[in-house]
Amino acid sequence: MTGVRPLFPVAGRPRDEVLERMRTLRSRDARWKDGRTFSLVYYAGEDVTSLLKDAYTMFFSENALNPMAFPSLKKLEAEVVAMTADLLGGDAEVAGNMTSGGSESLLMAVKTARDLARAERPEVTNPEMVLPVTAHPALEKAAHYFGVTPVRIPVGPDCRADVAAARAAVSDRTVLMVGSAPAYPHGVIDPIRELAGIALERGVLFHVDACLGGFLLPFLRRLGHPVPDFDFSVPGVTSISADVHKYGFAAKGASVILYRTATIRRHQFFTFTEWPGGLYGSPTMTGTRPGGAIAAAWAVINHLGEEGYLSLARTIMETTRTLVAGIEKVPGLRLVARPDMSVIAFTSDSFDVYRLADAMDARGWHLDRQQRPPCLHLMVTPAHAPVADEFLKDLREAALAVAGTEEEDGVQGLAAMYGALGSLPDRGLVRDVIIGILEDWTRPEPDTSSEAGARPTEGDASEKA
Ligand SMILES: *Cc1c(COP(=O)(O)O)cnc(C)c1O
Repeated sequence: MTGVRPLFPVAGRPRDEVLERMRTLRSRDARWKDGRTFSLVYYAGEDVTSLLKDAYTMFFSENALNPMAFPSLKKLEAEVVAMTADLLGGDAEVAGNMTSGGSESLLMAVKTARDLARAERPEVTNPEMVLPVTAHPALEKAAHYFGVTPVRIPVGPDCRADVAAARAAVSDRTVLMVGSAPAYPHGVIDPIRELAGIALERGVLFHVDACLGGFLLPFLRRLGHPVPDFDFSVPGVTSISADVHKYGFAAKGASVILYRTATIRRHQFFTFTEWPGGLYGSPTMTGTRPGGAIAAAWAVINHLGEEGYLSLARTIMETTRTLVAGIEKVPGLRLVARPDMSVIAFTSDSFDVYRLADAMDARGWHLDRQQRPPCLHLMVTPAHAPVADEFLKDLREAALAVAGTEEEDGVQGLAAMYGALGSLPDRGLVRDVIIGILEDWTRPEPDTSSEAGARPTEGDASEKA
């Protein structure tokens, strides 16, 4: 067995060597700038990226943990929150905070609902949250962390939350209902008005997960796209999450969580008055908070403004239209749902789409694989505009090749794994596989990129690629 376990370095290395080492490692990463990936990176071009870097670097060392020391950051954060509230139909009553990302914003929404219920409905000892099956797993994570029981409701054939099921799922233990605008898997917006109406009737909080749509849907509406109401203009909506680091095109580590009133938000905060280190108060999950992420979010919103976002939104939707039309023309492919914005999920009734994903991987295009039903996922950004036609040509060729080949030795590659894991009845086994992957994540690998950056501990010290 060959393994390389890096030990803590004794001698320091020159900066050029350190940087060069990282550059080498990076050369094997996904080519997001060329539009080859369809999630994870939201790239609005070099102009925006260089602004983000300058703004981030200006506040590189500052810590937003304590607003007294850096009044500049306090102001930048307050303004990002206020500008986002304005974008999402909020009035002066709306209160919020910046967080490190969508997951933290959702954690906060659930924690706030739980603690508000603890204060106002102490009889609820086993709080529940009603959410569609398509809602983001960060909400399940929040339920898991904070001891709230998730009550999942199905979606209809259009992939939108089933309103009647939501109504039936609300109980006297419900503390929160959730809808997405849009949900990540198929890009469709849940019936927010109907769902929030139920929440209002039953006196429970309602969260809109607009992590994905918060910085795009308002602009699509201004461009004349049909966007159903999803924000604070809807009665019953009590909180909204929106990620600046997605379609806001900010640097990573920037999301906003908003509440209809400061009274609701009070339940988000944590305080500790007995610490010898001083009086302690923290608005969100994290302690130390990078000033750079706040600064970059403020910078990009002010640099682009509504006009800049409208222009990006136009490009995104034109590209989405091109991709949708092209996908629908490929024999054997069909959309899972008609998307409300720039997220496309497509599947096939005639062949295994996971095999198509493998074939596209081989052509350098990385599509996300989804389940129930098996389908492939595209999140469209401006980086895809120049490559949409090339993508469609490759997709058509790959689909024809996959459809035309019988599988002699059974399904190979990732398709075999995804196919098996998607349909395996024992979800405990699937869970074990995922845990194995998480365990391997931080297991050092033998270095094959160039000169090994670590001392070999076992096996052949001379092994190199
Ligand atoms: C991305 C996303 C999240 C989670 O956000 P992170 O920034 O990845 O933590 C939550 N909800 C939706 C709909 C998302 O698209």
